[in-house]
Amino acid sequence: MDLSSTIVYAGGEFARYEDAKVGLLTHGLQYGSGCFEGIRGYWVPQDDDLLLVLVRDHYERLINSAKILTMSVPRSTDELIEITLELCRRNRVRTDLYIRPFMYKAAEDIGVRLHGVPDALAIVPVPFTAYLDASRGLNVCVSSWRRADDTMAPPRAKITGLYVNSALAKSEAVENGFDEAILLSHDGHVAEGSAENVFLVRRGVVYTPDPSQNVLEGCTRRAIMDIARDEFGLTVVERSIDRGELYCAEEAFFTGTAAGVAYISSIDRRLVGDGTIGPITKSVAEFYERVVSGREPRYEHWLTRLYAPPRMSVPLPSTAAAPA
Ligand code: PMP
Repeated sequence: MDLSSTIVYAGGEFARYEDAKVGLLTHGLQYGSGCFEGIRGYWVPQDDDLLLVLVRDHYERLINSAKILTMSVPRSTDELIEITLELCRRNRVRTDLYIRPFMYKAAEDIGVRLHGVPDALAIVPVPFTAYLDASRGLNVCVSSWRRADDTMAPPRAKITGLYVNSALAKSEAVENGFDEAILLSHDGHVAEGSAENVFLVRRGVVYTPDPSQNVLEGCTRRAIMDIARDEFGLTVVERSIDRGELYCAEEAFFTGTAAGVAYISSIDRRLVGDGTIGPITKSVAEFYERVVSGREPRYEHWLTRLYAPPRMSVPLPSTAAAPA
């Protein structure tokens, strides 16, 4: 990917990617002492506009990830959103986009620690390329790698170094002929994919591991739970899930900013349902697509429009106020 002329935000200013370098001994590079986000921008030709999805939620999660790493983000959520919009404007974005904001420990020295190390913020936009092929079902395996446990390094923070865990699982899966991995937690319950949350459907009920199962609390996960409940009247249960339940699911799918909603065809070579997309997965996936392309006015508050003035959200029906 040639990003040399892309405008990025680094060190408190806008700069060209090729001028915004870090040194070889940068702490975040040596020790994985950083945290990041991934924000999707959907280019909608009929609106001639870029729609950023759940951008506030992503920045709130970045601020929490940074807090866990004893870093402080030098800008408020509103300022981060404004900087992101300005970045898109400066890059004259007219394509689908993936935005990577991150904080990292910036000292160039040797020594494992978090205290007393200066940190830095950067935001890099890249053109979006499909992460998982959502048009066909995914063949996934249960990984031999376990999801890192919160007692080791908290998975609810999107910590740079923690992605070694995901990368080991993903490469093992792909090299063994699968599309993606599902990691179990340290105590053997289903956690999540390498970069996605996982959902199952059994007898019309939607299940997903609760946040204490060492999952990243995904922004898309929450959005899909809301859509399933509020738009389709489905029961959504967050609880620990056993490996065996994966094999009995009638439907299964991943959610993620990059992945969107991607259905799972088989798990450990056992078909999920008949291997095609199930009716509940199809309904929520199509609805989510409508939301992120600005075609569901009630969900306008999930979107930040780059060029057009903000639109008012039509209030959700009263069920939306029910506790999640
Ligand atoms: N789990 C992991 C480990 C991830 O990296 C991601 C991608 N950010 C997700 C879940 C999905 O989270 P989100 O919907 O916020 O992208």
